[in-house]
Amino acid sequence: MDIAIVGGGLVGSSLACALERSGLTVALIEAADTPEVPPGFDQRKLALAQRSMDALDRLGVLTMLSALPTPIRRIHISRTGDFGRTLLEASEFGHVAFGAIVLAQDLGVALAKRVQTLQQTRRICPARVSACRFDADGAQLTLAVPGGEQAISARLVVAADGTDSFIRHAAGIGIRSHDYGQTLFVCSLRADQANDGTAYERFSEQGPVALLPMADGAYGAICGVASAKAADIASLDDVRYAAYFQSRFGWRVGKIRETGKRTFYTLKQVLAERLHAPGAVLMGNAAQTIHPIGAQGFNLGLRDALSLARILVTDGLSGTTAETYAASRQDDRSRTLAFSDGLARMTANPGLPAHLMRSLALGALGSAPVMAAELVSGAMGYRGATSFEDVL
Ligand SMILES: Cc1cc2nc3c(=O)[nH]c(=O)nc-3n(C[C@H](O)[C@H](O)[C@H](O)COP(=O)(O)OP(=O)(O)OC[C@H]3O[C@@H](n4cnc5c(N)ncnc54)[C@H](O)[C@@H]3O)c2cc1C
Repeated sequence: MDIAIVGGGLVGSSLACALERSGLTVALIEAADTPEVPPGFDQRKLALAQRSMDALDRLGVLTMLSALPTPIRRIHISRTGDFGRTLLEASEFGHVAFGAIVLAQDLGVALAKRVQTLQQTRRICPARVSACRFDADGAQLTLAVPGGEQAISARLVVAADGTDSFIRHAAGIGIRSHDYGQTLFVCSLRADQANDGTAYERFSEQGPVALLPMADGAYGAICGVASAKAADIASLDDVRYAAYFQSRFGWRVGKIRETGKRTFYTLKQVLAERLHAPGAVLMGNAAQTIHPIGAQGFNLGLRDALSLARILVTDGLSGTTAETYAASRQDDRSRTLAFSDGLARMTANPGLPAHLMRSLALGALGSAPVMAAELVSGAMGYRGATSFEDVL
């Protein structure tokens, strides 16, 4: 096998699709019992940058979604206690939309369907990599499969196996981590006013709150709370939770009427110290697990996958592929991490002076078109100069 992708989540599956034209043989190894239910294919609502949408379209994935993505036509940013707000209109930047919202589960199932049609990729599932030994030719992997073990070798191993990456550990790559002390509650809701394509981001000292446009007028609701208070919030019934969310979000969409099933996530940043080792590269959550507030995690992971695909399609697989890949990701990765982590710490830090938050989040953005343009280009996925369109 030329390439072994360990982890068939959103990023590993996207990479398999992007390698279809590379001429290389690919194994996609996923531990989950069935292709449709890896842990990341859940009810979280993903804001996909327009560039990610374009790439997924070229990869033949969007046509496999069961529901149409909901376009984000404007972004509304506000802060509790401030009257100011910033409104970014896609049309004012010459675009129809900044991106779109899809359900992670729907995207995951669409990717799994697309993977089944690939000629170059053999999906091995369920199979958990239980040992990995690197040598001069690449790597020897041992897979735990139903009823026993299976061995495969690969010239390059791609770690797309998530936050607690086994491959990252086997390759001897360390991490830096930071606990934000925040828990994020996610659910769907309905309000007096149906969504009109606006994504709302609201900052407060208790954590971020967001409402994302969903199909048929509903919203995806995200609410960050200090982890010490998470058990109290989890115990609220739907009516009380709607009232709590209203107190955090305000009345911009009228009264909040119904909230759906709530899921929650504790938030930690985990950053790999390097993106490569001999015979291995890291991408997606295995390379960087970041706070969801800036909606950058999958968008960045997809660009990891597309960058590696670009190198393999144009230069082929060689002894320098891993190093070239790591170098190609530096600029986009560091800028995106700085953006996401800055937003997250700002909202997770009650001690930060309000005027600083205000100038960072609102004032400076609203009064400086250059900053607004930077935010928009980042939100749309245009950080980093590389284009991928020609290799997909
Ligand atoms: C609440 C929330 C909201 C978010 N919103 C957004 C958003 O709006 N926009 C955005 O871009 N991003 C968002 N993200 C981030 C995004 O969900 C992640 O970046 C993305 O899902 C990471 O995908 P991945 O494939 O890298 O990792 P994972 O989804 O963790 O996949 C890793 C896969 O590897 C498999 N695996 C693990 N170990 C092994 C092994 N030893 N052998 C074989 N397989 C293995 C696992 O079963 C899993 O399927 C959000 C995240 C959260 C928590």
